[in-house]
Amino acid sequence: MEENNSQSVQRRKFIKGVTLGVGGIMLSAPFMSLMSSRAAGRKKQDKKLGIALVGLGGYSTHQLAPALQETENCYLAGIVTGTPSKVDDWKRKYNIPDKNVYNYENFDEIANNDDIDIIYVVLPNALHAEYVIRAAKAKKDVICEKPMATNVEDAQRMLEACNENGVQLAIGYRLHFEPFNKRVMELGQQQVFGKVESITANNSSDMTSEKPNIWRLDKKLAGGGPLMDLGIYAVQGAVYTMGKPPVAVTANYGEVTKPLVFHDVEQSINWELEFEEGIKAKSNSSYAEDQNELSAEAEDGWWKVSPAYAYEGKKGETSEGKMDYPNIYEQVKQMDGQAESFRKNEKSIVPGEMGLRDMKILMAIYESAEAGGKRVEIHN
Ligand code: NAD
Repeated sequence: MEENNSQSVQRRKFIKGVTLGVGGIMLSAPFMSLMSSRAAGRKKQDKKLGIALVGLGGYSTHQLAPALQETENCYLAGIVTGTPSKVDDWKRKYNIPDKNVYNYENFDEIANNDDIDIIYVVLPNALHAEYVIRAAKAKKDVICEKPMATNVEDAQRMLEACNENGVQLAIGYRLHFEPFNKRVMELGQQQVFGKVESITANNSSDMTSEKPNIWRLDKKLAGGGPLMDLGIYAVQGAVYTMGKPPVAVTANYGEVTKPLVFHDVEQSINWELEFEEGIKAKSNSSYAEDQNELSAEAEDGWWKVSPAYAYEGKKGETSEGKMDYPNIYEQVKQMDGQAESFRKNEKSIVPGEMGLRDMKILMAIYESAEAGGKRVEIHN
């Protein structure tokens, strides 16, 4: 934190006083506390920030924890899990001390643990709100996985809790740190090929071979089906192509061909976002097929990234040729970027406000689909 002018003047006066005294002086308590708080601030500036992962499921195990072995600004300092049988493996593999291991009951005690600077919530969607709010009350900066929540009200409560407790909140939107998608932002927002005229954004993944009882198929825990999990990337893609939020949406559910699997959440959903000046982004998302595309037509050219949202293997082309970017370890860049912004006490480029904006869009898509395709306005 930067000191204000009067603090700075007082400090200079005080230091002058002390220096004028002779060697061997005992430093007074206020001076010591000033020094220690400055030292603490400096410590946070210099050191890697400690992250605690909350929820040790697939994403934490296969992407985030390995990524945290390569990050420069942060490291895996702690874990929070409801499954005691996972603890030994994680402790051994990542050299995590006992004092940095928590369960869901004693999680709030993390407030007293100086090793943990950032809490990263990687739980089923409906649990994000509770753990982000508890993390904020523990005065830790927070990263929350997408989708931020399962409804707008929870997202608002999460933001409020972070603001009230003076902590930062960022969403795990890894594609904002990745070269192909960053180029799409530039192409669209800087109108490299003139104004964008239309967008296509689809993200689907065939889950029908998996066990149907996983939480992603449970509306209470997931908030919805493929739209919440995968379609959110297509929504994000359209919005960062345009560089502004949509003003309205029309949507409808796709056919249910696997009713035994998709009886609680949708199997597929189609939607069209409408931006100012009538520009449209057409999208769909399904749990029963594979699609992965973000493309646009502009006045003087076009581009297409496919796959656009996968962890790796991205490929892209524009009307001028191949997009030539390295595939990078996105989660490394994401967490390093977020840790850097937290350290500077600056808003992340993917702040909680962006998560809230997207919740409003997702809920408007469902509202339109529920109403059989009625045009729903989106107010930000
Ligand atoms: P997962 O099912 O593999 O893991 C979920 C974890 O939550 C498990 O460890 C489970 O034990 C724990 N859990 C705690 N309470 C639970 C409950 N009541 N029911 C079920 N599980 C419970 O899920 P995941 O794929 O790791 O996804 C977790 C979060 O991360 C989700 O919000 C998801 O959208 C997000 N995610 C993001 C990305 C990305 O690319 N940004 C990728 C995958 C997942």
